[in-house]
Amino acid sequence: VGIEHPLLERIGVRHAFGLRDDEPPHGLLQPVQVHGAEVVWAEVWGGFRPEADAIVASAPIEAPIAVVTADCVPLLASSPDGSAVAAIHAGWRGLAAGVIEAGIAALREAGGEVGAAAIGPHIGPCCYEVDAPVKRALAPRFDAELEAALRPTRPDHWRLDLARLARAALLRAGVAEAAIGSLEDDCTFCHERRFHSHRRDGPRSGRLTHWIARHG
Ligand SMILES: [Zn+2]
Repeated sequence: VGIEHPLLERIGVRHAFGLRDDEPPHGLLQPVQVHGAEVVWAEVWGGFRPEADAIVASAPIEAPIAVVTADCVPLLASSPDGSAVAAIHAGWRGLAAGVIEAGIAALREAGGEVGAAAIGPHIGPCCYEVDAPVKRALAPRFDAELEAALRPTRPDHWRLDLARLARAALLRAGVAEAAIGSLEDDCTFCHERRFHSHRRDGPRSGRLTHWIARHG
């Protein structure tokens, strides 16, 4: 189970954004996430899990690829024919480091255009307050887009719309507006019964698993 996105369904790639108690498929290729901008190709997977926050698969890989999150933005993307796919983990550190641009560049290298890029459940602007160091880290890459994604709350604090920044990064990476999608009502913090949230549940929070598999 999990949540499918119409843009990816239309291409016909198997995928799902994770829910709290679902069972992801077996044999996922899932990197060790470090909040950076490294991309790993599933083709070079060895007997170990590399450190990366984006993973791309093209022929002949058939195994599903995955990232896990609990508030950060998960992104699942595919080439127009489903022959190449990507899974990306983007929190504020990853956004500041350019993980979306790096992951999309790798997907385009593998599959030409991007047919669909779907933004999954993450902590929404309703619940995600950040401080000045986070704003400073994001400013060099996002600038005016960052101002539009922030709403002041108290001195030196703002509510941040992570999806708005993710969308800006996708557009900058050359993804067509019509190929970018998100979900309704998908704040991980608001919806305790559906999603894990690190900010709500603390360090013992579970993780949501988001996966996608290219056409075999
Ligand atoms: Zn919320």
